[in-house]
Amino acid sequence: MRKPIIAGNWKMNKTAKEAVAFAEAVKNKIPSNDKVDSVIGSPALFLQGLTEAAKGTELQISAQNCYFENAGAFTGENSPEAIADLGVDYVIIGHSERRQYFHETDEDINKKAKAIIDNGMTPIVCCGETLEQREGGETEEWISGQISAALKGLTAEQVANLVLAYEPIWAIGTGKSSSAEIANETCGVVRQTVAKDFGQETADKVRIQYGGSVKPENIKEYMAEENIDGALVGGASLQPDSFLALLEAVK
Ligand code: PGA
Repeated sequence: MRKPIIAGNWKMNKTAKEAVAFAEAVKNKIPSNDKVDSVIGSPALFLQGLTEAAKGTELQISAQNCYFENAGAFTGENSPEAIADLGVDYVIIGHSERRQYFHETDEDINKKAKAIIDNGMTPIVCCGETLEQREGGETEEWISGQISAALKGLTAEQVANLVLAYEPIWAIGTGKSSSAEIANETCGVVRQTVAKDFGQETADKVRIQYGGSVKPENIKEYMAEENIDGALVGGASLQPDSFLALLEAVK
């Protein structure tokens, strides 16, 4: 069966000192990796401090973005090679905030997915629809299109080993979480898209997270659903107690 994966997405929060203090507070309380993958997605600035603090523990570290080239004249960017060299395990790509505010395209996300895999890390590939798209009945086509475009050219084996995250934009940071039923149905669309593009065996293996106002109080509802294998969590991942409570609820 698919192992649960809980990933915190800190977004643009914390200082380096606060990030390391968080890791120190949680690192010896993380459940075994046999039961759940426990990941913190941090701004690039804190990745080194976090990987050092987490060394030898069950806490895994993720970046929130990277570029798709390994070196060169790309002022202000971070290469996947440099991120991997720090001991980082995952990179979140295609978050709706990056698509909206930083104009990341499906094509960029596809190039990033390939570069992250080539550097030995695991992409967490996000998709999600706006409220307008949901109300206009466009969700299925939109989500399916985002997933197909992000994974284009990858092998079935590569897809089986990455992580997909369905995050309805109307549920992010709003406190208005999606019902477990809608989340499951749309994670099902993600899984069907993988089945169509890479085969049923790959679709059965790939892990799909739900994200959007997930907290310790509601995570079990999502995890009980067939197509949901974990959560990508913003606000509720910022405090050690709340992050640990999410892990305890799923382990
Ligand atoms: P939220 O954010 O849990 O604060 O809604 C989720 C996300 O954007 O990944």
